Amino acid sequence: MLHVAIVGAGPAGFYTAEALAKRLGTVAIDIIDRLPTPYGLIRAGVAPDHQSIKAVDRRYAAVLAGGVRFVGNVEIGDGGVSIDELTRLYDAVVLATGAPRDRPLGITGEDLPGVMGSAAFVGWYNGHPDFADLDVPLGQAGACVIGNGNVAIDVARLLAKTPGELAASDIARHARSALAASAVRDIHIIGRRGPYQASFTPKEMGELGLLERAQPRVNRADLPDSAGDAALDPGLRKVVGHLRNFAAQPRTDKPVTIDFDFLTRPVAIERHGEALRLIVEATRLDGDVAVGTGVMRSIDCGLVVGCIGYRTAEIPGVPFDTARGRFVNDNGHIAPGLYVTGWARRGPSGTIGTNRPDGGEVAEEIATEISAGRRAGGGGLDALLAARGIRPVTFAGWQAIDAAEIAAATHPAPRDKHVTRAALLAAADGGCAGGTTPL
Ligand code: NAP
Repeated sequence: MLHVAIVGAGPAGFYTAEALAKRLGTVAIDIIDRLPTPYGLIRAGVAPDHQSIKAVDRRYAAVLAGGVRFVGNVEIGDGGVSIDELTRLYDAVVLATGAPRDRPLGITGEDLPGVMGSAAFVGWYNGHPDFADLDVPLGQAGACVIGNGNVAIDVARLLAKTPGELAASDIARHARSALAASAVRDIHIIGRRGPYQASFTPKEMGELGLLERAQPRVNRADLPDSAGDAALDPGLRKVVGHLRNFAAQPRTDKPVTIDFDFLTRPVAIERHGEALRLIVEATRLDGDVAVGTGVMRSIDCGLVVGCIGYRTAEIPGVPFDTARGRFVNDNGHIAPGLYVTGWARRGPSGTIGTNRPDGGEVAEEIATEISAGRRAGGGGLDALLAARGIRPVTFAGWQAIDAAEIAAATHPAPRDKHVTRAALLAAADGGCAGGTTPL
């Protein structure tokens, strides 16, 4: 039997497992994750108020219920199992580790307290154990969100929503209470280029116009002549339509504003007592490229969140393209028997569903290129983990965590997330025998 290990229990990993099982019928697949929980960005990236998008986790649960093993709480690389060990144990290894690191802003002051990337901020409100203790200062009126993609919209929307608007979300409890007490009123979404170059999508943009206490504002002068809209692709045309609508609205008495600061690039961040000051430069477009004009201004704020894209985390022994922030690969091939899929392969773009064809492709390559050898597979991994004292979380363990989180929720929230590794492991163990594999 062919033994395949997939590293990363997010959408890219699950679509690969699903396609492999369908293509081969008989195959032993282990999905390994450094967290005790599966589903990657569905749990820790997708906004907590977008529950309909998160519902895809049922499809992934069906993959685990169908016999694919979940091996949680196991790090591949430093401190866990090396990539060499893994490739010796399995006939094929697929890296589906995504892009969990923030791209740096590359400006002075980005290391100041109160300045963070979206991986950290989104991880904080989504209850990712690595960011549960993040210090998120919400005591100043101003907050700057840098970037013109959907993550910037998520961050601005979460900062703007009322506790009532978040009631039916699965936002982590610490973030729910911090945001309820937040003093943030002036949110700026900063884009270095213009509305025609933005990466927003229409649904996310439209939601900003429906917020209870926040008004999105666009400066008419930043909008290109509407004659150009007809040539835009349909999605962007709708986005620009929303922006034109926001620009046409008179100021309401809503207490929170979300200003789109187009043609504005961050230059530096300074600290002044408790507050931050983001220094920005006005830009102009030379074709599609933003060029600085030398005209500077500053925005007072307490929080700066860079939403400018992500990088894959390096794994010792796997060639890494530092400039692109992902593994070196040739159409998903890294080395014989070692593959990559999803954001770790092509970079952080596209929706959850974009990973599906990617998974299908890598499954087809494995099916045609690899034949079963005399590998130890999952049994060998279990023995190695036991020898190292690493207790993996099983699917049953995850189901126990899931049940505990759902039981702890206050209606209408769907769950109250456990946000520390210790709490997650205790729930995995406590809920059922075999939640973590006994040594
Ligand atoms: P993104 O869509 O690639 O947007 C990144 C933004 O950062 C761009 O506006 C980019 O501007 C800007 N940027 C990059 N470097 C910068 C710098 N040094 N200074 C200032 N601005 C800079 O990335 P994302 O928002 O992180 O989203 C990642 C992917 O997840 C996207 O495909 C997104 O659609 C998807 N996503 C989807 C949803 C949803 O469907 N609800 C939600 C969240 C994320 P330039 O264009 O000028 O480079």
